[in-house]
Amino acid sequence: MTSSSSTSTPLADNVALVTGATSGIGRAAAEHLAELGAHVLVSGRDVERGEAVVATIRAAGGKADFLAADLADVYGARDLAQRAIEAGGGRVDILVNNAGIFPFGSTVEFSNDDFDAVVGVNLKSPFALVQALVPGMVERGAGTVVNVSSAAGQRALPAAGVYSATKAALDQLTRSWAAEFGPSGVRVNAVSPGPVRTEGTVDFTDLHAEFAEISPSRRVSEPADIAAAIGFLAGPGASNIHGTVLPVDGGYLAA
Ligand code: NAP
Repeated sequence: MTSSSSTSTPLADNVALVTGATSGIGRAAAEHLAELGAHVLVSGRDVERGEAVVATIRAAGGKADFLAADLADVYGARDLAQRAIEAGGGRVDILVNNAGIFPFGSTVEFSNDDFDAVVGVNLKSPFALVQALVPGMVERGAGTVVNVSSAAGQRALPAAGVYSATKAALDQLTRSWAAEFGPSGVRVNAVSPGPVRTEGTVDFTDLHAEFAEISPSRRVSEPADIAAAIGFLAGPGASNIHGTVLPVDGGYLAA
């Protein structure tokens, strides 16, 4: 991130690209980063929901623009990166790799198309976005990436093998990228949510109740819980934090 102008808006002068910002965790992160002063580039496929997020941010006095993108393959990700640099006036300072899909299913029945889709959105697109956007950060000697992982990357869940594998891989990329880019002034970290109440998990009410019961906090997260951690990792308070995967899970992984 670049230097800030005030303690209430520590991300002023920063351009932040948030993928999957049309819903759930990504939308909350986009709104929070805008509150912290960043110019937020809201991305997703759904134009109507994307424009609604932009309108909410602008109505609150923040700065935001919508960039439609399909991150199913690396071409969409590369194209988004170029448009983000243009919309950001030549740079992106903060990249939040949040877009993700979680089609669960047994290993025996899991389709090849679903396998490719999960790997494409959850793993290849973050990789392509880092490839395209981090060189500019390195050149400026500043910037930060926050990956949105999952507790499923560290704890086995039945019928979530491929999803979990993409998140475990994202955790390792987080550490590898921290080692690769940290010496150039670019910080890379991840948040690792446990269950979060979002549009994407409306069908998981029973599962949420089970998770809440075994988590020390006795509740599942709200999107704002994850957004707060993303804002922290992107901000000056985390200036010497590199390569961490921060659980935001009510203690689920610890218990
Ligand atoms: P969500 O409500 O389903 O939202 C998913 C977002 O990803 C949407 O904005 C969607 O945008 C975008 N997206 C999906 N496919 C896309 C594609 N092909 N191209 C571009 N964007 C795409 O999900 P969520 O629950 O907020 O989850 C967000 C992230 O948190 C994911 O990475 C997920 O794995 C992780 N996570 C969630 C939980 C949880 O319990 N909710 C727990 C752990 C980790 P469009 O529909 O506009 O394309």
